Amino acid sequence: MESQKLAELLFPNITETPEELEKKYPKRDLPEGAMVTRLGPSPTGFIHLGNLYGAFVDERLAHQSSGVFFLRIEDTDDKRFVEGAIDLIIDSLRFFDINFDEGAGKDGDRGSYGDYTQSHRGEIYAAFAKKLVAEGKAYPCFLTEEEIALIREKQEAAKLNPGIYGEHALSRDLTYEQVEANINSGKPYAIRLKSDGNPDPEKAKRIKVMDAVRGELDMPENFQDTIILKTTGIPTYHFAHVVDDHLMRTTHVVRGEEWLPSLPIHVELFEKLGWEPPIYCHTAQLMKIDEETGNKRKLSKRHDPELSLDYYRRKGYHPQAVREYLLTILNSNFEEWRMEHQDADIDEFKFTTEKMSSAGALFDLAKLNDVSKEVMLRIPAEEIYDFLKAWAEEFNPEYLPMFSDKEYALKILDLGRQDAKPRKDLVYAEQTVDFISYFFDDFYKPEDELPEEVSKEDAKTILEKYLASYDHADDQSMWFDKIRNIGEELGYAPKPKDYKKDPDSYKGHVGHVSTAIRIALMGRAQSPDVWTIQQIMGEEMTRSRITKALAEL
Ligand code: GLU
Repeated sequence: MESQKLAELLFPNITETPEELEKKYPKRDLPEGAMVTRLGPSPTGFIHLGNLYGAFVDERLAHQSSGVFFLRIEDTDDKRFVEGAIDLIIDSLRFFDINFDEGAGKDGDRGSYGDYTQSHRGEIYAAFAKKLVAEGKAYPCFLTEEEIALIREKQEAAKLNPGIYGEHALSRDLTYEQVEANINSGKPYAIRLKSDGNPDPEKAKRIKVMDAVRGELDMPENFQDTIILKTTGIPTYHFAHVVDDHLMRTTHVVRGEEWLPSLPIHVELFEKLGWEPPIYCHTAQLMKIDEETGNKRKLSKRHDPELSLDYYRRKGYHPQAVREYLLTILNSNFEEWRMEHQDADIDEFKFTTEKMSSAGALFDLAKLNDVSKEVMLRIPAEEIYDFLKAWAEEFNPEYLPMFSDKEYALKILDLGRQDAKPRKDLVYAEQTVDFISYFFDDFYKPEDELPEEVSKEDAKTILEKYLASYDHADDQSMWFDKIRNIGEELGYAPKPKDYKKDPDSYKGHVGHVSTAIRIALMGRAQSPDVWTIQQIMGEEMTRSRITKALAEL
């Protein structure tokens, strides 16, 4: 048979047969319903929020179903392989508690469905390309770039679909002898799929694909003689995806919606190879509202630092907060579930692809911060302490002194968190160290001005009297009575509502008096409860802050 001979001519050294390969990659022995998912990043040294977003879906699907989640390095495009990129991918995702069960790893592969790096799988792709050629479903194409450009020009002039297909696929019907002559004269060639699709939109068949996120997709079949092996012998994404996900027994392919247009190619490739395609889950693009225009747009590497995963580590977002936030944008029913299960572990939530939005997923830092406040509230102070300390060690060692006295730090971190209406002050590490900085003399800095109701003179008198009457053993109400008395002596209303009713009779109210004290103690007009803060700071620091503030007035 001509095509059999052609396959031997093109792939003389490929001796491993598809049947042998099938045996090497047997069906996985997993419980019914177990899902096998994979992440297929290119090792460019940049891992972004979109990767995390996809990885999260993969991870949940696999681990919720007692399946397998593996890492495959997709390095077949010509982008450069950055040293350390695999470690970066694994470490960045591990930080967010996303762990692979098998695949490429720092110290080599783990699992028996490898090699997990596409550039090491050349012979496998060749074996299946050889099979397609032998069956007359693929062929060598000798068209040069110039010839292809010329074809395109003609197509444009005739208002035809661009591409290599049908009568434009000039290498399609070369005889064995012609191919042999071309090869002997050293002409480079790619291997193209011999598509059965009909380029005429009127006559083209429609294909139906169930997408787990989008429901049934109805698309025209592929008609392009798509390249499966480039002239270098390296497979295209299309071919590598089909061969690898078949052999590695992936059940669910989670990938960005930018792959939707090429889905018909993948469907045809699966069909030609006689394989069952996986279930596709095409995820929506991550979008944000542009600050300047107010319009929705894609997140961009150049304009949006928050696209980089590094951003969250540097800012010190707790991984649980990021996970929780991702779920709120990934599954529309998550927030409702959270309201009903306030203390439940996030992994108890049943993640489903059906509840994913197929329109652009809106990413919003303000919303992340809101979610983070809630999540931080659920994390015990001790764990937050460890987290902040590790963050400081890694990114900002100048803050380490804040964590040298653990007992002190724990009291600070728990301030107002146990109340009936707990405070939600902690958002991320960088914000938190700033928020608590006034508890440490070396970090304390005056930030706010006195309220306009309190003159400098009055502030001086208030602080003098406060210091003179200060008794660290006072309980909260005794302490507040003293402030009220100091205020009243100076003409400040004992209650805000008295002042509101009759503003001309007072300079201000007791709140303004305590703000003057707050500023002296904390350098800020706003803070959690002053009495509690003083109890944490201790008598010595309290007195010395007031004394210092007095000296500066
Ligand atoms: N290497 C592809 C990418 O980086 C992976 C797509 C897929 O998951 O199939 O987009």
